[in-house]
Amino acid sequence: MATSEFELIRRYFTHRTRHTLLGVGDDAALVKVRPGHDLVISADMLVAGRHFLRNAEPRLLGHKALAVNLSDMAAMGATPRWATLALALPAADTNWVKNFSRGFMALARRFDVDLIGGDTTRGPLNICVQIMGEAKSGKSLRRAGARAGDDIWVSGTLGDAALELAALKRRITLTPAERTWCAARLHTPIPRVGLGLALRGLASSAIDVSDGLLADLGHILDCSGVGAEIHLAAVPASAVLQRYLDRVAACSALLAGGDDYELCFTAPRAARRKIERLESSTRVRVTRIGEIRSHRLRTPRLIVRAPDGVPLRVVRGGYDHFG
Ligand code: ADP
Ligand code: MG
Repeated sequence: MATSEFELIRRYFTHRTRHTLLGVGDDAALVKVRPGHDLVISADMLVAGRHFLRNAEPRLLGHKALAVNLSDMAAMGATPRWATLALALPAADTNWVKNFSRGFMALARRFDVDLIGGDTTRGPLNICVQIMGEAKSGKSLRRAGARAGDDIWVSGTLGDAALELAALKRRITLTPAERTWCAARLHTPIPRVGLGLALRGLASSAIDVSDGLLADLGHILDCSGVGAEIHLAAVPASAVLQRYLDRVAACSALLAGGDDYELCFTAPRAARRKIERLESSTRVRVTRIGEIRSHRLRTPRLIVRAPDGVPLRVVRGGYDHFG
């Protein structure tokens, strides 16, 4: 590695740590998991041209690269502690790295995560973050665990990030103020870590919504061996998205858009009041959107009902009425 790259690591990726025995600067890092906890590990890669535009703002990329990983910790009900960062850069562009690390480290500090190592190499722009966290032994949230009769819940609102993408691709026209709102949801999502922790012992299953509600709820159903029925009118949409709900692009964004980084989870009916009370303690809106059902072979796993009660038919990322 060129000296300038060592200098970049020293300057922008070497920071004081809070939960770490040995961080950046050796051949590997050393951490200790607290007694009675499990180590929770996940990685997410962002590839230029696939997950973001090549000329994307580096500060926003730094934020998002960590945010999508924190979201996986949230979905597991884990406390994020450590991250590693593997970066391929076309050139040792100091300004780019400086701004990237600003976005990354601001979110790391906010969520009390130590950057403990990584790799920096020359190559087509590619960002790979590995996140590690702690979960009380036996208390992590899983995709499996939903039972017939459980409520299905979603945090925040869905679809704004995908609506911004639709606007970027000129599939829909939004006002500048609407673009600002949706762009923030796309570029700087705030992972629901606090909510994930609060759901331990309440939720029967959980996942973060990164690929769209239908796909991600589908994973819960597959892993849990159950079916579900949800109500379109109950799916939480922002004021902006609601204005466009008569448009296919907005409806698809809401149900199948992705990049939301909200939590979708299930819980027994008996937990309803407790979950509603989490809104004030976590300051995150939670909305009940449907119910888990037992699933019979050769019937649809997931039924989405329109406001008139008619089931929607899902067609290539969007949907329409049956018949
Ligand atoms: P090695 O040759 O052992 O892989 P490197 O020279 O790649 O070591 O890295 C030196 C130190 O800097 C290591 O502690 C490594 O974890 C850390 N490091 C390298 N790149 C990054 C990065 N992008 N972010 C954080 N730490 C990094
Ligand atoms: Mg290395």
